[in-house]
Amino acid sequence: SSGGIDMSAYWLPFTPNRYFQHHPKIMQSAKGAYYYDDHGRKLFDGLSGLWCSPLGHADPRIGAAIQKQFETMDYCPAFQMASETAFRLASRIAKMAPAGLDKVFFTNSGSEAVDTALKIAIGYHRVMGNASRTRLIGRDRAYHGVGIAGISVGGMVANRKMFASMMMPGVDHLPHTLNLSQMAFSRGQPKWGAHLAEELEKIVTLHDANTIAAVIMEPVQGSTGVIVPPDGYLQKIREICTKHGILLIFDEVITGFGRLGANFGADRFGVTPDMITFAKGITNGVIPMGGVIVRGDIYDSIITNGGQEQSIEFFHGYTYSGHPIPAAAGHAVLDIFESDDLVNRARALEPVLEDGLHALKGKSGILDIRNFGLSGAVELDPVPGKPGLRSMKVLEACIEKGALVRVAGDAIAAGPPFISTPEEVQFLCSVLGEAIDVAMQIK
Ligand code: PMP
Repeated sequence: SSGGIDMSAYWLPFTPNRYFQHHPKIMQSAKGAYYYDDHGRKLFDGLSGLWCSPLGHADPRIGAAIQKQFETMDYCPAFQMASETAFRLASRIAKMAPAGLDKVFFTNSGSEAVDTALKIAIGYHRVMGNASRTRLIGRDRAYHGVGIAGISVGGMVANRKMFASMMMPGVDHLPHTLNLSQMAFSRGQPKWGAHLAEELEKIVTLHDANTIAAVIMEPVQGSTGVIVPPDGYLQKIREICTKHGILLIFDEVITGFGRLGANFGADRFGVTPDMITFAKGITNGVIPMGGVIVRGDIYDSIITNGGQEQSIEFFHGYTYSGHPIPAAAGHAVLDIFESDDLVNRARALEPVLEDGLHALKGKSGILDIRNFGLSGAVELDPVPGKPGLRSMKVLEACIEKGALVRVAGDAIAAGPPFISTPEEVQFLCSVLGEAIDVAMQIK
């Protein structure tokens, strides 16, 4: 479908049913809240890239910061030394984070941030003399990237199946919290389902708390279709973790940096984890960077080896940890967040997205509509035996009508840039509604 471009060499990442390999969407440029494709179409960026471009595209302030850093210092190792830009960014991020989370470890991606957080959890218990605390707990329908640790604690069956022999031992999964018969079409946080947090007590009883290092979860599950935690669920999880000395990690790769209308999901839900993973929004997707924000005393224990002489030390880090160029992009992004008041803009757009999506209720083929922050999803009734087919058709039809959304199984996810106008968010929702009508013609 692409004006003269040779597509034969490029293996697209993860191709559901090989569909996109044969129907690639080729983007040629991006500016503000829009992409432009090889058919000359202007497409509203209804998912902020891959939830990673809250400021829209090609903000010249980010480009200028990168250019300036390149001229000042283009690279600096993070072993034995580090760039000033990275130190300053770490303290800025720590100041934005919930109180007590005041150390930042930089990675290059969300997957690496997840690896890092899980290693910190196990390393921390070890230096504190609890070497038996190595078990990890994730959730069904969780997405924590594509590393071996991430797919082990993750709960997307399709990502794990082929790699059964590589799954980490000692991992349990809490059930996901989606129950369409109880909470379909809830706006914001569902009222039903907080009791599902009690499942954590069952796992603790089964294995003994002294074997469990950490629980990891996305405050709102993103990649599997914007699954919003029931009211009280995260609070209960926090309570149980604290009671048993289990660390709680929030994977905020999507939810961090304003997506939920607060700096972090932790702030919006009023629940403070022991670590937060981040990536995506910190550089607005312009250049890779991720990291983990860690409770100060965990960091202190690890660097002092728990105050004890130990024969092994915690070793971890990447060639590009704290790379000065993404760190400079991070500063520019945080400057723009401040000067343009973007977290509040995201919060102000939340009801526009909520009303726009819930206005689609009653259309045929819709099983559920969910939303929280500037993030939402519509769950479709799939064609029997052909999961994902209808949602891919929705994407096709949205593109025909001028907007990009994301297929997440049988759900369609939306998460527009924070710079969007209310009219653009309404446009996105109405395009989605029309596209669903088109997709419902497939039987
Ligand atoms: N964790 C979560 C919650 C994510 O949403 C993602 C990416 N969508 C990741 C981890 C992995 O991040 P990356 O693709 O940068 O490795």
